[in-house]
Amino acid sequence: MRCIVCQKLSFDVICKSCQSKLLKPTITTRYENDLNIISFFGYHNIESLLLTKHTPLGYRVYKLFGRLIFRPFLQKFVEELDSIYIIPIDDRVTNGYSHTALLAHYSKSTKIIPLYNSLRALNPVKYAGKSKEFRLNNPREFIYTGKRDIQVILIDDIVTTSLTLQEAKNTLISKGVDVIFALTIADAKL
Ligand SMILES: [Zn+2]
Repeated sequence: MRCIVCQKLSFDVICKSCQSKLLKPTITTRYENDLNIISFFGYHNIESLLLTKHTPLGYRVYKLFGRLIFRPFLQKFVEELDSIYIIPIDDRVTNGYSHTALLAHYSKSTKIIPLYNSLRALNPVKYAGKSKEFRLNNPREFIYTGKRDIQVILIDDIVTTSLTLQEAKNTLISKGVDVIFALTIADAKL
């Protein structure tokens, strides 16, 4: 196949050379309403890669984000713990896959345990390009059906207003789940 960035022949969807240039994370943390949100990239630096989630190609791109970015970070975090649960936000399948489930799946290890299909939005509203006011007036209405009395890390692709993550966190807290922090690929404000 060809690298989607430089078009050279490559084993991966992004070649090793482009991986080392483009996929160098710079960790940033946002703290909003008692939630730490950790991101690896500024949205604008990798926008074209993030937008592949709307196409079949996104399957391979988001796999790479899980394996190369999320997993090493989470493995370091879990080093001194027994284990940790990770919850992909609203991992319903669209375009044949769920990009948040892929991130979780390629982050997993014996100590990093994804809880799939446990936190779903009843409201299928799309937030991309919408104002904060619209987002506030159209909550995602999450339901949680997973384990209780556990500590989790939330997994999502992009943080914009952080309203989705806040709403997810509040739903989890109401079910006795402690959210340690949220992890996203990119922060839209950077
Ligand atoms: Zn390349």
